Amino acid sequence: MPNLQLLRKEEVSKSVYSFYFENIDFLEWKAGQYIQLFVPHEKPDSRGIKRFFSISSAPFEKKIVITTRIETENSSSFKKALNELKTGDTIECSQPNGKFIIEDLSRRIIFIAGGIGITPIRSILLDMFHNKKAFQADLLYANRDSDVAFKKEIEEIENSGDSFKIHYFVDPRFICEEELDKIYETYDDKIYYLSGPIKMIKAIEEIFHKKGVSKENIKTDYFPGYD
Ligand SMILES: Cc1cc2nc3c(=O)[nH]c(=O)nc-3n(C[C@H](O)[C@H](O)[C@H](O)COP(=O)(O)OP(=O)(O)OC[C@H]3O[C@@H](n4cnc5c(N)ncnc54)[C@H](O)[C@@H]3O)c2cc1C
Repeated sequence: MPNLQLLRKEEVSKSVYSFYFENIDFLEWKAGQYIQLFVPHEKPDSRGIKRFFSISSAPFEKKIVITTRIETENSSSFKKALNELKTGDTIECSQPNGKFIIEDLSRRIIFIAGGIGITPIRSILLDMFHNKKAFQADLLYANRDSDVAFKKEIEEIENSGDSFKIHYFVDPRFICEEELDKIYETYDDKIYYLSGPIKMIKAIEEIFHKKGVSKENIKTDYFPGYD
């Protein structure tokens, strides 16, 4: 199995940490894909020693970065063990995988992130921006407070031109049909990328189905454990 070596850990917003790994086995990935990390530890709880994480870094950044919420008191034994890794420690991982990737730049892309669901979207946005791809996109970014992860980086992309617009939805404002209708007049001419807590993503997916968006134009990454 491939190995990753921990380089450093950084708090990117309150209780949200990025773990930077040296890609010692030169894994190749596409922006938006995920890997599974294995962190063996003593007395694992019922959720075990492995978890899926979207890779929050873009391929041009070379390092493999995963970003996750760690609220130490309520954390799983996995998150505690991940948090206790030291610089230089190596862990095993799977090959990168996943279909939450960009294939069509001809339509406007609507990214919807619920909290930590921003991770694959950060990778995709930085990748498209770095590679000077011509794209039209919006990000609808919902979070429990205004301390959102990767704010500065994504706002730099927004401020670089008029092809990308961010809409924040901070609790108690949330993404619902009424809010979507304030932004969009038509729906079936766009492609949707939804990532975040399962309940939230399923609810928004349902709205788009109701609006007549076909299934192949909605890509989803459901994050379990955050509902
Ligand atoms: C394709 C994919 C990509 C993903 N990408 C990311 C990512 O980029 N970042 C990320 O953070 N996560 C991501 N996830 C989700 C990730 O795999 C974990 O499920 C998530 O981080 C929750 O971790 P945890 O189970 O260790 O719970 P913790 O985060 O430690 O706990 C969260 C809270 O949930 C409660 N809880 C949840 N489930 C249970 C349970 N079964 N028993 C008891 N308490 C429970 C805990 O008490 C705690 O309050 C992804 C999942 C998939 C499938």
